[in-house]
Amino acid sequence: MKTVAEYLESLRRRNIRLFLRGEQILPAAILDHPLIAPSIRALAESYRLASQPGWQELMTAPSSFIAERVNRFTHIFEQPDDLLKKIKMQRVLGRLTGTCFQRCVGMDALNAVYNTTYEIDRAEGTIYHTRFKEYLRHVQREDLVLCGAMTDPKGDRRRAPSEQPDMYLRVVERRPDSVVVCGAKLHQTGVVNSHEILVMPGRSLRPEEADFAVAFAVPVDAPGITLVYGRKPNDDRRYDCHIDQGNPQYGNQEAIVLFDNVEVPMQQVFLLGETAWATLLVDDFAAYHRQSYGGCKPGNGDVLIGAAALIARINGVENASHIREKLVEMVQLNETMHACGIACSTQCVRTPAGAYRVDWLLANVTKQNVTRNPYEMARLAEDIAGGLLVTLPAEEDLRHPDYGTTLQHYLTGAYGDAETRQRVLRLIETMTIGETAAAFRTESMHGAGSPQAQRVRIAVQADLEDKIALAKRLAGLVDADTARIEQAEDHLARVNALKK
Ligand code: SF4
Repeated sequence: MKTVAEYLESLRRRNIRLFLRGEQILPAAILDHPLIAPSIRALAESYRLASQPGWQELMTAPSSFIAERVNRFTHIFEQPDDLLKKIKMQRVLGRLTGTCFQRCVGMDALNAVYNTTYEIDRAEGTIYHTRFKEYLRHVQREDLVLCGAMTDPKGDRRRAPSEQPDMYLRVVERRPDSVVVCGAKLHQTGVVNSHEILVMPGRSLRPEEADFAVAFAVPVDAPGITLVYGRKPNDDRRYDCHIDQGNPQYGNQEAIVLFDNVEVPMQQVFLLGETAWATLLVDDFAAYHRQSYGGCKPGNGDVLIGAAALIARINGVENASHIREKLVEMVQLNETMHACGIACSTQCVRTPAGAYRVDWLLANVTKQNVTRNPYEMARLAEDIAGGLLVTLPAEEDLRHPDYGTTLQHYLTGAYGDAETRQRVLRLIETMTIGETAAAFRTESMHGAGSPQAQRVRIAVQADLEDKIALAKRLAGLVDADTARIEQAEDHLARVNALKK
């Protein structure tokens, strides 16, 4: 496994083509760039913790593919317990960084492609799974960061890919040993800090949409790839502030990835034209990443709850009953997200490929809670913090030779000094309305699919007919539907047998 120093050096060695605010950022400048460096530090924690005594059990796992322990972010969920450990690892990293540490998308994509390629090969006689296992060994041996790339631009969403081909990543040329792809992927978390991109189709496809049914891996610096860095609220503060950043140490990152005639060797292609399998790949990836949010967001939530409790102490109101009640409410909302993450992990099933898959319905319910609870937690934190959250002067003012001391006098509360208060308020500010709110709020809403995407899958997976049959039986409406109850009981028995 890589050390942090080796990871940083490996980033420096890539020849990526990156633009930020209209300027090209050369590879040598990426590690020290004020906007990018906090996101690299957040991701690097996944390497640092993996090498720390006492953390190996959580951060690493034995791989049957290379017969060595690997970083858990490159691991296939080979045992049911791997899913639970994943959630716990994400909570730890969420607590440590207070933001998105970016490495989970690649882990979830690895597992979804692993499961799906096995099933495609079994049904279609292809060799994608064999290829993919070779690729997986490379990822595990090199301890790589993968960017899992799914979201296409989609353009006019009323129109299918075949009606607006340039809005979806697609194959534009098939060569004997490679394919050439064009298009773009949006919202790519951590891609600038990644070694490779694992691309998947962004949606279900019709039989005539074979060119869009493509999954493959490419280095992030492959010829034809351009990265365009996304902006975040208040990101200007990264350039010339310290305390006013709120979380100067860590940040997250998204970029748009442009693919302009990128050639992919066939050895790195894991789906090519089998449209019917796009849905399974999308569903499996989405479920794994919706599970992930039951780990990272409660970890971030722990930080926000701590900051809210601390500002209450600074304001001298920590024992006020309404403040205690609000903090309890924040904890309840936070633990609900985590409880759902644990539930969908423990209710896992074995896939035909021999790995473990989260309970899809419970994973979608997890993510639905995550689309809501951080917003209410942010509202409660703002309520507890008071209006100074958005009226506090800059750190330069608190140090001003003329009026700085006076300002500090008026900004001192019941606990600590004025700078203590400033630091805590800025942390709450960044998590609720500032730069890292992109991770705690908007990413909670739209990451791993927007709320409606989960509701569509919940509607499919909830099996309402089964529930109607239960109601009919108790209401004395005995008919053919009651047979469904027995089927449900059979299903439960099978699931329980599997777990044993
Ligand atoms: Fe990981 Fe959470 Fe960021 Fe997704 S949003 S990459 S699960 S930290």
